[in-house]
Amino acid sequence: MAAPGELGGRTLLTAVLGDPVEHSLSPAMHNAAYAALGLDRAYAAFHVTPARLRDALRAIPALGMLGVNLTVPHKQRALRLMAHLSGEARLLGAVNCVLNRRGELHGDNTDARGLEADLRANAIALDGRVAVIVGAGGAAPAAVLAVIRMGAGRIVVCNRTVAHANRLARRFAHYLGERGGGRAHQTIEARGLDTLTSAATMGTAAIVVNATPMGLKTGGFAPLAYAATPAAALFYDLIYAREPTPFLAPALALGRRAIDGAGMLVNQGVLAFELFNAVAPPAGVMHAALMSALGRA
Ligand code: NAP
Repeated sequence: MAAPGELGGRTLLTAVLGDPVEHSLSPAMHNAAYAALGLDRAYAAFHVTPARLRDALRAIPALGMLGVNLTVPHKQRALRLMAHLSGEARLLGAVNCVLNRRGELHGDNTDARGLEADLRANAIALDGRVAVIVGAGGAAPAAVLAVIRMGAGRIVVCNRTVAHANRLARRFAHYLGERGGGRAHQTIEARGLDTLTSAATMGTAAIVVNATPMGLKTGGFAPLAYAATPAAALFYDLIYAREPTPFLAPALALGRRAIDGAGMLVNQGVLAFELFNAVAPPAGVMHAALMSALGRA
């Protein structure tokens, strides 16, 4: 067996595939967990362009890899490249976790479960309450599913392109209808970004989630009626950063609770680690490694 931190002839590999991928914090989290457990396994980051995704995925069984995570821009495209899909990957329309099971690729998605775990860890209660989700792109379905599972009564999807919000809302209205009763009555509706300035809607929000890249690079967040939100409202940004994000900073200034996506990232990573390795992950070690990589240790 290789010494801890070294690759040897028996080392089993996991990885993240993305374009770009250099910024990924997943290797830090997973490798810290392997070291803590003394496993002869390693987690790499591979820069894979969309044109090479099919080849890269085909290499997983050939190389005997345990599995890979997928990040931007591969999550949606990979759906069609899996031999098997979990119900959740199908519902979310994206794969973030590919497992090599006896040479066949199984696509799963741990984003919604990761976000739900972080919301529960932060003791947010959504039963019958209003959830405002900003965005209708790759990550927004995971946010919608997480708040549905937490019992949100009214889900308002706000997006720049209303047609995209409509498509997302229709998909989940169908899902809610299929599931039938058993839970409090839940509704989902589509709106434009102007709804974020509506005191009537924002005044009822228990949670506002940013599931867009707004504020990730230059440029701020869309106009939002922060002051109209209830004092107990939670602002949750899927983006994670060293400093409060442009979406969260005004909420913090008003004394609202504000959480960034670092906890979601850790939790989806913990779930992925368990799927890849069939070993209970050291969640605290993965959390500490992420915080250190983010410069927040
Ligand atoms: P994405 O698919 O590129 O997001 C597209 C969405 O953002 C669409 O709704 C789009 O609106 C909207 N949008 C993009 N630029 C905009 C702008 N300038 N003004 C208004 N709306 C804009 O990205 P994603 O995969 O959903 O990811 C969203 C964010 O979540 C990223 O920052 C990502 O890093 C983060 N994320 C975090 C985690 C975690 O574990 N914490 C997991 C997944 C994603 P249109 O429909 O109008 O184009």
